[in-house]
Amino acid sequence: MKILLLSFYDLGKQPKIISELHQKLSNGTNQIDIVDYSIEEKSLVLTDYDALGVYASMHTASVLAEEFLRGKRLPDKLFVFGLYAKVFSEIYSNFNIIQNFESEDLESLLKVKLNSEYSFKHSVPDRTVLPPITDYSHIVDGSNNLIAGSVETTYGCKHECTHCPVPIEFKGMFKTFGTEKIVQDVSNQVEAGAKHISFNDPDFFNGPKHALKILELLNSKHPKITYDSTIKVEHILKYPQYFQELKDLNMLFVISAFETTNDQVLTILKKNHTADDLKSAVELSLENSIDIRPTWMPFSPWTEIKDLINIINLIENYKLRETVAPIQLTIKLLIPKNSLILSSKEMNPYVGDFDPTSFSYQWNYHNPEIDTLQKQLFKYVLDNESIDEYEQYLGLVDIVESHTGVSLIKDAEYIKRSVPKLSETWFCCSEPNKIQLDRIKSNKALI
Ligand code: SF4
Repeated sequence: MKILLLSFYDLGKQPKIISELHQKLSNGTNQIDIVDYSIEEKSLVLTDYDALGVYASMHTASVLAEEFLRGKRLPDKLFVFGLYAKVFSEIYSNFNIIQNFESEDLESLLKVKLNSEYSFKHSVPDRTVLPPITDYSHIVDGSNNLIAGSVETTYGCKHECTHCPVPIEFKGMFKTFGTEKIVQDVSNQVEAGAKHISFNDPDFFNGPKHALKILELLNSKHPKITYDSTIKVEHILKYPQYFQELKDLNMLFVISAFETTNDQVLTILKKNHTADDLKSAVELSLENSIDIRPTWMPFSPWTEIKDLINIINLIENYKLRETVAPIQLTIKLLIPKNSLILSSKEMNPYVGDFDPTSFSYQWNYHNPEIDTLQKQLFKYVLDNESIDEYEQYLGLVDIVESHTGVSLIKDAEYIKRSVPKLSETWFCCSEPNKIQLDRIKSNKALI
């Protein structure tokens, strides 16, 4: 059987799951081709294949997949996998959802014997079937571009933040990957040139003891390798002793979803943190010399003008200009099918029709003035994509100052720092915008 596996975007990382599926499908007779359109340009006749599998890793990937497949003739056997598989199949109902490679679903769809040796929890992915990690997101450390790899210690998440796509699929549950699988996968990537590893877990501290045990093992085996991870504010504050340990284990920075300083919105999103907690988390990171790179979602139906002022004040007070990707200050709430936020009574007055091409529901602002500000900020980033991020940030602050009449830059002597970051700063819970889509399509996501 000729099987084609397509990936469109996996946050600048190698689509590891495709290599795992390749292993599962490898039975000695299947011919399996892989194309990752986030870094490759290949023209394909899809009907040359007996089966097509699409990796709907997240929202942007699904939008790109939909654009790619629109109007094309497709093979007879179609399947979709990944976090957005269900969302994708709402639009493409002829695609079968395969969420568990170890269930019989794939075998009965393709009518082929699958490799029973493969274990999602324990088998080490064979990444050699994918484009090399050198083609993906790098770590930018001052003037150096270092090869970065990625790994997960867990999948799923034990939380149910209402705006997040993860609980739609995982319903507040997470599972761990086997230690040997993780350590060997990292060792293989180090062998392939990786100097840095990103932990892709939705939250590195969902199982903090498991995560730290893995990090300690990795650090003893590869003492020069650095890391980054994503940890929610609630967990940073709940486990300060574990957070402290990260610095000695080469954790370069921690991404944390701050979202907004508006406590009413944080409650609706069920983030389990408050605006004051953001300050405590930043203070803990400063005490432990680990940069927090906050992600934001300032724009939702309930946004008030003062939220933008408070967000910028927090960035300014703690000197975080370099750790905030400017695009973050323009991010809007994204509402896919089955989003938990649809059952929130606060959402009802604002939600509109479902737009199949963007895989999301339209919504309105309580205060239409906010829409104008968001569009202005977004246009600024769009028009100034080529300038330095630090300058972009100052440009955005200037717009908020003009809009509100409030002076926000108080430190004229601000000393700009050079901080490590990934060359691809894209986060899965946010609406893709034209910049990201164009960058991915033109393979410009990477430095
Ligand atoms: S936002 Fe983070 S913590 Fe909340 S459900 Fe999603 S992955 Fe879990």
